[in-house]
Parts: sequence; structure tokens; C-alpha cells
Amino acid sequence: MSQTVPLIVRLLASSVSVANRAGKIVRDVMSKGELGIVEKGKDDYQTEADRSAQRCIIASLSAQYPQVNIIGEEDGNESQPSGEFLVLDSDSEILALECPKSLLGVKEEDIVVWVDPLDGTSEYTQGFLEHVTVLIGISVNEKPVAGVIHQPYYKTIVGSEKKLGRTIWGLKDVGVGGFTIAPPPDSLIITTTRSHSNPLVENALQVMKAAQVLRVGGAGYKVLQLLEGKASIYVFASPGCKKWDTCAPEAILSAAGGKLTDILGNFYKYGASESKPNKTGVLAAVNSDLHNYAVNRIPQELKDKLAN
Ligand code: AMP
Ligand code: MG
Ligand code: MG
Repeated sequence: MSQTVPLIVRLLASSVSVANRAGKIVRDVMSKGELGIVEKGKDDYQTEADRSAQRCIIASLSAQYPQVNIIGEEDGNESQPSGEFLVLDSDSEILALECPKSLLGVKEEDIVVWVDPLDGTSEYTQGFLEHVTVLIGISVNEKPVAGVIHQPYYKTIVGSEKKLGRTIWGLKDVGVGGFTIAPPPDSLIITTTRSHSNPLVENALQVMKAAQVLRVGGAGYKVLQLLEGKASIYVFASPGCKKWDTCAPEAILSAAGGKLTDILGNFYKYGASESKPNKTGVLAAVNSDLHNYAVNRIPQELKDKLAN
């Protein structure tokens, strides 16, 4: 790979390739049928697919970018052999992108990569496979600037052949690719959690006065619903999401003109020393007007409950 291509573009191109491979791992584990489910906490599961996909992503990126700080959701499996999973190629379409000026001088030490090897594990184990994504978010000086959302089970028909999997990417000041953005729906459609609701989450949904509420799994899939015109706001008034859930979705959504913050309207920071939980929830919208609408509808009392 040419070293004249700026670092951020190379890292995004490598992330696209490795996300594709991680998606294949996710499908292969399911096909074999031995999920190896471990309960990490209440309503929080890990499978062999989460573990193997993370090994593949972290081993592949750290072999090529040794000074980049890479933080993955699943701990405790870094020491296992990963040679079989090494992906050292990179997507040629991404390598040809022009790097935005503001990111030209970025060094490995300035970057933190947040990896969710399988977002939507509850849905994966319950057979809602289209909700599952692989997330690789690239942050520079605490801000998400690029990201990849891979959908291992997205179906496309090419001629007479069925193909599984697609990869969506975003880069600050450049835009998004891998799919076609659609305008928001005419009526207010909200997307939210399927498997992690609670009274605060429901309260925040009620005040939105939405025409419809979609309940689906994964932060990656919900942000894709925003970009594809299936919903216009993603509301989750609960601390359950972590930095690896929102880094890639935020980078892609903002590259497309949208906005992802906490329920109070504040941006999260993605530095390596930040706490992992997104304690004050997630609020994302396809544009700033809808984002403002949502922030303003959330009662102060609810904001205070999350913040304290
Ligand atoms: P969901 O919208 O419920 O699919 O959640 C999006 C992401 O946040 C997934 O990775 C979930 O595992 C995580 N998440 C949300 N709420 C919780 C929770 N209460 N406990 C553990 N993980 C959560
Ligand atoms: Mg996740
Ligand atoms: Mg996960």
C-alpha cells in the first residue's frame, strides 16, 4: 500500500477490508451453530462471533498501525492466536479518496479507534440478523472523524446471484459511501432499542409525539435507519450504550449532515481515557433541526435524572 496516501485514508481503507472479514466471521459462527454465549452482565451477552471478530479486527489493525490506540468491546481474548485472521489488504475505492485538509497531518498517536465487533448481540442470538453490524470508529483528538458500519446479513441481488453483506463508510468533510442516502420520512418516525428499554427510555419516547416508533437492535442499525430514510430521530434515554457503539455511527451520520449527542444535546468525547459508558444516553437525528426538536422535547427532569 502506498505510504503517500494520508494516514486517516489508509486506516479507513484498512477498516473497510477488515470489517468485511469480521462480517464473514460473524456469519460463519452462526452457520456452525456453536454460539458459545457468555453472560457479561444483565441483558449483556457475548458470543464466539463477538470474540473472534474482535480478534480479527484488533490484530489486523494493530499489525499495520502499531501506535494507534485501539479499544474493543470484548476484553480477555487478546492473547489468543490471531494469525489465521490477519487482514492486511485495504479497500481501493477508499484509498483513492482525497483526504480533507484538516486531517492531513494526523499522526498515529492522535488516533483512538473504537471497535464493536458485533453490535446487536441480543438480536444475533435471537435471529434478528439484519440488525447486526460490525462497527469501527476512528477518532482524532477526541472527535469521531471516520467510520465503518458493516452489515453481515444485508442481502443484495446481483444478476441472478444473492450476495450477503455490505459496508457503509463515512469520512469528515468527504461524505459517505457504500449505500444511497434517502431523505427523512414525511412523518416523525423514531427508532429506539428493542431489548434494553426501561421507564426513562419510554418516557423520552412519549414526549416526542412521534407518528411511529421502530424498535430495533444495535446503535449501528438505528443510525443506518436514519440515513436510509426509515426514521428521522434515534432516542435512547439510558446509560447502556458505550463509546464503541456510537463512535462509527456518529462519524458516518455527521459526515452525512446529521448529529449524534447525548440526551442533553452534548457531544461525547472519544479520547482513550474517557469513560466507556455513554451515561447520558443517545440522541441522533438526520439534521440539526430535528435534533433541536428532540433535545427541546425532553423534560429537564429526565435530563437531570440521567446526568446525576
Ligand atoms: P440497543 O439499542 O438496545 O440494541 O443497544 C445498542 C448498544 O448498546 C448495544 O451494543 C447494546 O448492547 C448496548 N446497550 C444498550 N443498553 C444496554 C444495557 N442496558 N446493557 C448492556 N448493553 C446495553
Ligand atoms: Mg454494541
Ligand atoms: Mg458488541
